[in-house]
Order: sequence, then C-alpha cells, then structure tokens
Amino acid sequence: MSALHEVVNPATEEVVAAVPALSVEEVDAAVARSRGAFESWRHVSPGDRARLLRRFSAVVEDHLEELARLEVANAGHTLSNARWEAGNVRDVLAYYAGAPERLLGHQIPVAGGVDVTFHEPLGVVGVIVPWNFPMPIAGWGFAPALAAGNTVVLKPAELTPLTAMRLGELALEAGLPEHVFQVLTGKGSVVGERFVTHPDVAKVVFTGSTEVGIRVAEGCARQVKPVTLELGGKSANVVFADADLSRAAATAPYAVFDNAGQDCCARSRILVQRSVLDGFLALLEPAVLGVRVEDPSLESAEMGPLISAAHRDSVASFVPEGSQVVIRGTVPDGPGFWYPPTVVVPSSYDAPLMKEEVFGPVVAVMPFDDEADAIRIANDTDFGLAGSIWTSDVGRALRVSRAIESGNLSVNSHSSVRYWTPFGGFKKSGLGRELGPDALHAFTEVKNVFIATDE
Ligand code: NAD
Repeated sequence: MSALHEVVNPATEEVVAAVPALSVEEVDAAVARSRGAFESWRHVSPGDRARLLRRFSAVVEDHLEELARLEVANAGHTLSNARWEAGNVRDVLAYYAGAPERLLGHQIPVAGGVDVTFHEPLGVVGVIVPWNFPMPIAGWGFAPALAAGNTVVLKPAELTPLTAMRLGELALEAGLPEHVFQVLTGKGSVVGERFVTHPDVAKVVFTGSTEVGIRVAEGCARQVKPVTLELGGKSANVVFADADLSRAAATAPYAVFDNAGQDCCARSRILVQRSVLDGFLALLEPAVLGVRVEDPSLESAEMGPLISAAHRDSVASFVPEGSQVVIRGTVPDGPGFWYPPTVVVPSSYDAPLMKEEVFGPVVAVMPFDDEADAIRIANDTDFGLAGSIWTSDVGRALRVSRAIESGNLSVNSHSSVRYWTPFGGFKKSGLGRELGPDALHAFTEVKNVFIATDE
C-alpha cells in the first residue's frame, strides 16, 4: 500500500484529496506494464490510433467543466483559465490525432537500390509536469508521444495531481488500451528521478524549474537518453514610445498576473522607452487595480491565489522592505495563499527582480533609451522563453523580434501558446520544442533503410 499525501485547495486551505505517493518498486512495475503495452500499441494501425486519440479528445470535451472545476479546487486557477486549460488538452489531442497517418518518411534517391526513412516510436516516454499548468503541460507531452506510437508514464506535480489522474481515467473510458497511458503520482525525487534512471524509459519530457531540469538533463546524459526541457523564464514586455500606449498598458497586467504570475511566459519585466515612462505608468495603474482578484471559482475572477504558503513566502521575498512599490492591488480577506498584483521599480538593472524568476504577481518596470538599449536589457538574463514588443513601426518590430534571444515573441499582443505553433526556450529556458507540426519528431527516432535492387 503506497503512502498518501494530501492535496490542498490554495484558495481555502482545505484538504481536497489524499493521493498515493508511489515507491520506486511501484514505478518499476508501471514501467514494465508500459513497456509491455508498447509492443502492441506501436502496431495499432495509424487509422485506429488516430481514431482512439480523437475519441480521447471527445471524452475530454464531454468532461470539460468537471476537469475545469477540479483544477479550480486543486490549483486555485480561475474558472475561465481552467476551462481554457481543459479545452487545450482537448485541442492538443485532436491536433495530434491527425498525426499517425501523416508520420511521413523520405524516399531518397540512391544508386543500386531504394532508400527510405521511417520515424520509429521510442518506447516508454516519461512526462514530468510542474504544478502551474497541470493539464496543458501534460497534454503537450502525452498527446504527440501517443500519436507517434509510444506509451506514456506521466508524473504530475505533488501539489496538483488531480486533473492528471482524471485524464488517465478518461483515456481508458475513450478506449485506449490499458497501460498505454498511466499516471503515476508521487515525489519528484522518487517517481520523476526513476523516469530518468530507468533503462526502459526511452525519453524524458521535463517541464519545471531550471535547477531540477539541469539535474534531469545530467541524469539523462548518463543514459544517453533524449530529453526535452521546458524551464523558467524572465520575459520582457518592451514598450516603445511609438506604440499604442493605451493598449500596451491595458494588457500588460494580464501578461504577468494571469495565473497569479505562475506562468513561465509571464512578462515580468516591463521595459518602457524613457520618454513615455510616466505616461505609461499613469495608464498602467487603473489597469492593475482593475484586475479582479477573488475566489477563483467565480465566473468573474481574473486572478486567484498562489499555489502554497511556502510559494507565497518565496514571492514576497522579492519585494523586501524598502522596495519602490509604485502600484499594488488588493486581495480577499480570509484563508488562501493570496498575494496582490504588485508593480515595482527596482533599484537597479541587476536587482533580483530583473534577473530571477519570481513566479508570482510581481512585475518590474524599468526605462530604456533606444532600440539597442531595449534589446540589450531584454537579453540581459539567463532565460529566453517569451516576450512582447509594442511598436507601430513594422521594421522595428521585426528587427527587435529577431534580436531578442527568446523562443516565443509576440508583437502588439502577448500570445505565447497556440497548440499548432512551436513552443520552447532559448538559453536556460529549455531544450527542444513542444507543440506545432514538428513536435512529433521529438518522440521518434529516424531509421534509414537501404534496399538493394541490383541483381
Ligand atoms: P520543479 O522543478 O520543482 O518540479 C517540476 C516537476 O519535477 C514536478 O513534478 C516535480 O515533482 C518533479 N521533480 C522534482 N525533483 C525531481 C527530480 N530530482 N527528478 C525528476 N523530477 C523531479 O518545478 P515546479 O516548482 O513544479 O514548477 C515551476 C517551474 O516550472 C518554474 O520554474 C516555471 O518557469 C517552470 N515552467 C516552465 C514551463 C515552460 O514551458 N518552459 C512551463 C511551466 C512551468
């Protein structure tokens, strides 16, 4: 019998469930079942695999509201965000359901025969998920992995396992064969670590902190095991003087306070051209104060609590006594791990708030002088995940987009994630790309076969 660990609603501090914390032996048994299932799953015809994934997508759609409400209770996400997240799983499954019949190889002209390539599945894929977006991040791993003919073991974060567990049940309800997709709950240092060291886990997809990601990559290197890493971010929102300042200011709070700032793509540094800094801050204030921070189960909620008391302490440590807080929102009274939307002008460009990922609703605002200065400051970080550029000059938009060392940039908007476009980071934000048309190849090995035709 596995040990149990408790799951807490971060908006009420009430225990909502107790889930098993699996042992290494239990993980090994699950990997063995997964490896067994792989032998038949890889041979399911492309059309049947596609049909099963479409059905899985449809079952997620049928349970969308249930999944969303479960996420509100487990992660404190606002109801509207949680609905989007469950919908994202549905969409990612539907998108990759189109893949099995399109997993095309090449036929390459050669002398004396025929040369063809195959995209072979890898085997058992281990997907390790953080607590900030439990559903989408799981789906970005398991949907393409399954489509390419792999089986999946999925480890949700200790704090947020409930929607992943439900998705595991829904996969069976949709008709996926047993053990093709298993959800294994427990500690990162036990379950996650075992995915890295187990010789029968052929690939690890890890999303989480840079610190743990490096450890995962080191372990995978020892096994020569492929790994995809989606790690932290410190993204810049660069506002030029020629931008539509009203729109830039009205949208900036949502680009960092969405999901209470617990978003790897959070635009947590707002860089504003010096000549418009005061005007921008004047427009930003009502926008920040207008963010509705309230019970996340309300339809109107725009921001909920942080995930835990410990995380709230960590966020608060970035705003020590004496910080120049220029705008601060409010939070509800009573239980819950709340932290208000907070805008700070840091003491220097080297302050922790300009360099480190806060992962909470705290944003730094700093001025820049010209285009070159904006690019230099935007790139002055170890991370390179996302970013936004606000300008009415198309040439500048493209020059700055090309110059910022980041995987996902948006001009005059803050979008980062579309399931049909690639997502991932430069520098210490990660390795490899998820989503989009090419992600499938991260779950296959290319095999080249030459067939002699000469007599
Ligand atoms: P974390 O690194 O603490 O944990 C992530 C996952 O790894 C959890 O499931 C955890 O149990 C597991 N884990 C912990 N130790 C492990 C080990 N030794 N071996 C294997 N697995 C282990 O991160 P977190 O606090 O859950 O998530 C927040 C971080 O995730 C932030 O840094 C954020 O930027 C990052 N993130 C990145 C992206 C992206 O796509 N780039 C998306 C979301 C979150």
